[in-house]
Amino acid sequence: MVPRHSATQRTTKDLRRGNRVELLRRLYFEGATSRIDLAGRTGLSQATVGNVISELLHDNVVIETGQLDSEGGRPAVLVAVNPKHAAVVGVDVGESGAAIELFDLRLQKLAAVEVPLRLPKESPASLVSKIAAGVNQVIKQAGVAAQHVLGIGVGVPGVVVHDGEEYVHAPSLGWDKIPLLQLLQTALPAPVMLDNGARTMGRAEMWFGKRRDAKHLVVVLLGTGVGAALFNEGHLFGGSTSSAGEWGHTCVVVGGRQCRCGAKGCLEAYVGAGAILERWAQRSRRSLPARRDEQRLLRELAAAARDSKAAAAVLDETADIIGVGMANLVNLFNPEYIVIGGWVGQLLGPRLLPRIRDAAASQALRFPFSHVAIEVGRLGPDAVAMGAATLVVESFLASGGRSRGTTQGREAATQGGAMG
Ligand SMILES: [Zn+2]
Repeated sequence: MVPRHSATQRTTKDLRRGNRVELLRRLYFEGATSRIDLAGRTGLSQATVGNVISELLHDNVVIETGQLDSEGGRPAVLVAVNPKHAAVVGVDVGESGAAIELFDLRLQKLAAVEVPLRLPKESPASLVSKIAAGVNQVIKQAGVAAQHVLGIGVGVPGVVVHDGEEYVHAPSLGWDKIPLLQLLQTALPAPVMLDNGARTMGRAEMWFGKRRDAKHLVVVLLGTGVGAALFNEGHLFGGSTSSAGEWGHTCVVVGGRQCRCGAKGCLEAYVGAGAILERWAQRSRRSLPARRDEQRLLRELAAAARDSKAAAAVLDETADIIGVGMANLVNLFNPEYIVIGGWVGQLLGPRLLPRIRDAAASQALRFPFSHVAIEVGRLGPDAVAMGAATLVVESFLASGGRSRGTTQGREAATQGGAMG
């Protein structure tokens, strides 16, 4: 039987922990704030806020950043999250390369490297050793100690299954139940968190994009692959095995073009970067080079569309198909916003947007369509890596700034460390 006072102690401890998490989250997302304002915004007493902030200052998680002159009154000291408390790494694994970026705790980029890859030819073991080399390089470049890195978030193509053990399934890469997380954990110098790249991009959009307050949002990734992150009531929708959002493998043409996933007529088989280029080659009766630079070729296509009918027709058809895919999203999920991201989205989005909207309007049900705005996201090509880094920061915030990583149970290094 548990003695009564112990249960009470636990409750008090939980309460204190909850207060610490809440105040830290506010400081993280709302920026420098005075203790009085924190008390006003949270409804906590000034004494409670004072105690929690003292603890966070002692742990070096927050810092005092100067004073706010409160209109003739006594100036109040502002408190903010200490960006130098720890570093975070985000990795965006694409088929032709991985972007590896190191950020401070507030996700300001301090260093970045690009590691060339040749997926699907690359084996998972070779991929892991290249990522490890890149991570070490970026840590060295930023001049931080490896133990200063809180964790490494990795966005990958394919379905990342979290059910006790984590596996990656990516039929287009020939990956069937690859224990990528375990492989990365043994090779990397800090705890690793893994998720699908479209989902990490969606997280970056939710943290730093222009629709942060949206509750019902779909962020679509148009790149070499095609995917989506679905937010319901502000939360990322996962489904029973966290594979929800495989929008690229929803069918737009029954019996249509062969998709890399094995099925036919998938959206990605028409509007993935490779598929757009193949349709262009077919229409202009040319052949594509075997080792092709998709980004360069797609820029060529966009330029050619100014005076080539074939190129313009390929882009129009691309917009029509994306629009139909978006109408399906509108009818199924009734979002407030659909935000277009990914490198193809950024490259072609502004040009295709009016036609995408028209195609979606003619296919979607009128009422839900009248409540959705379709737009191009403002985050740059870093969005997937930055979103992967948010996985680590999210778990740090959820621990009230105590965790150093999540999966290896590292000791909390409360004194932080020198950065730079
Ligand atoms: Zn498919």
